[in-house]
Amino acid sequence: MRMKNCPYCKAPGNFYFKIFSRTYNWCSGCDLIYKESQDSYDKVVAHYRDDYFSRYSADQMSGERDRLFGRILDLIEKKKDTGRLLDIGAGCGFLLAAAQKRGWEVKGIEPSRQSVEVAQRQYGFDVFNGTLQEYDENGEFDVITFVNVLDHSVEPWKEVSKAKLLLKSNGVLFLRFPNGLFHSYLFKVSKKLSIERSIARFLVFHEYCFTPKFVRRLLSDHGFADVVVYNASLSGGSLIHRLRRLHGLPQGIEAMEKLTDLISGGRILWGPSLELIARKK
Ligand SMILES: [Zn+2]
Repeated sequence: MRMKNCPYCKAPGNFYFKIFSRTYNWCSGCDLIYKESQDSYDKVVAHYRDDYFSRYSADQMSGERDRLFGRILDLIEKKKDTGRLLDIGAGCGFLLAAAQKRGWEVKGIEPSRQSVEVAQRQYGFDVFNGTLQEYDENGEFDVITFVNVLDHSVEPWKEVSKAKLLLKSNGVLFLRFPNGLFHSYLFKVSKKLSIERSIARFLVFHEYCFTPKFVRRLLSDHGFADVVVYNASLSGGSLIHRLRRLHGLPQGIEAMEKLTDLISGGRILWGPSLELIARKK
């Protein structure tokens, strides 16, 4: 489906950039950057259900994200000590395992059957095999997490709305997502330098590129308060493996990010990934 107008606030979209055959538009109303031609909900879900495990599970299994999950839980535990935690797009259950070790009662939702089987075999977790929209069990959660998941969704606002229903009052929502401004800016600069072909494969563009302004609006529209957006440290996933070939670029990015955080008191959000914590009103 081709979308000239913003799929969220319906304001007219403006051409933002084109990466190979994909055009991304920017909405001046809500600051969302969105793919102009979008796949159907069913096609996107089928990809995560059927193909994702074989292509990306090696990254998940590498153990390189353990440090990331520990840090995410440290951040969450500043708001909630413990309770019931639901991870959306739980993969093979590594965040759930880290949370359970720290005393959380955990539940996951994951469309890939193979990932669910790994989570069950390895940890005995009862992960719901399906999407958040299909999840119809009752259950109120203290915390809901989306780690690199929401920007893949065709209608992320529906996911946020469903998450709100499943959260207890004052429950915590945690998001981690690629920083849309960082990736699109780097792509535009690389295009000017005619090096976009070598840079593009390090950049992350899914259904949407989220900006801090957009996610703040999305959450405030859906009844969340105390929204704080942070620069996230690098995850150590596959992107970093590939970036390592570029002679110290990841270390450079991380050092610049820390320096910017220090100078701006965390106000300049320019890192490759952002994290957000909000509270259900
Ligand atoms: Zn909009």
